[in-house]
Amino acid sequence: MSISYDFSEKVCVITGGANGIGRCMAEKFAESGAKIAFADKDREGGEKLQQQLEQRGTPCLFVWGDVGEKDFLQQFSNQIQESFGVVDILIHNACLSRRGILSGCEYEEFNYVLRVGVEAPYYLTKLLLPCLAQGASVINIASTRAFQSQQDTESYSAAKGGIAALTHALSVSLAGRARVNSISPGWIDTGAYHKNEYVPQFSKADLEQHPCRRVGIPEDIAQAAMYLSSGAASFVTGINLTVDGGMTHQMVYDGDFGWFYAPKPEELP
Ligand code: NAD
Repeated sequence: MSISYDFSEKVCVITGGANGIGRCMAEKFAESGAKIAFADKDREGGEKLQQQLEQRGTPCLFVWGDVGEKDFLQQFSNQIQESFGVVDILIHNACLSRRGILSGCEYEEFNYVLRVGVEAPYYLTKLLLPCLAQGASVINIASTRAFQSQQDTESYSAAKGGIAALTHALSVSLAGRARVNSISPGWIDTGAYHKNEYVPQFSKADLEQHPCRRVGIPEDIAQAAMYLSSGAASFVTGINLTVDGGMTHQMVYDGDFGWFYAPKPEELP
């Protein structure tokens, strides 16, 4: 079940909007009446979405480029201000991984992930500050990986920890001006927002390991973003909203659920 929101005449800015969760959020905010401005490094996917939104009557700006580049952020901000003059909802969604210490993630690779995942959200917010509407909603897409890890994920986990902390810092700095919150998705199957014909294939364990008994879909995150951007959340700022089907609250001990701890031989004392 999804709730309908009314964002008529609001301007919603999304980074990484051409595919996956970003594309779903662009579509859902557009269906709720918002005008959309989005950036993506996928030119073909971005142009396709822009066309799709314009065909249904949504004013839409797509700017092609890499949010990990300072000059691009300036260009994106300029075009938003020229096209719309105001921003009501700002969603920092783009991110990627270059893995971690076990696979030899290099200085430049690690730094690039931080540029996309932390510096871009900070700097784009700074650039758009002059046109941020009173009562605007800023949403940072973090991850449950900000708080727990698998091996070899340092670049991504550090970026997500950074954006989670950036959220509470900005919420205090922008107090009275904008509300700033983060969403931490768990496992979200984005296949339907990449391919036209997509049939999800999950094992029973994939589903049942989640207390909600399913894998997440991009609509779960779009609904959370719409709630946080709506008047219903006018007393909510600085929080991190975890949307993971309960996965990170499932405590697992050796022997639970048929799961047994099996360290690699080299890890045994
Ligand atoms: P995705 O890879 O499906 O889509 C990401 C989009 O961002 C793509 O269109 C890509 O081209 C764009 N992008 C990536 N880097 C960019 C850059 N430097 N400049 C411009 N555009 C860029 O990703 P997703 O799964 O939809 O994830 C969206 C957000 O949600 C990310 O922040 C991700 O870390 C977070 N997240 C996703 C999951 C999940 O399970 N899918 C879980 C936790 C958090």
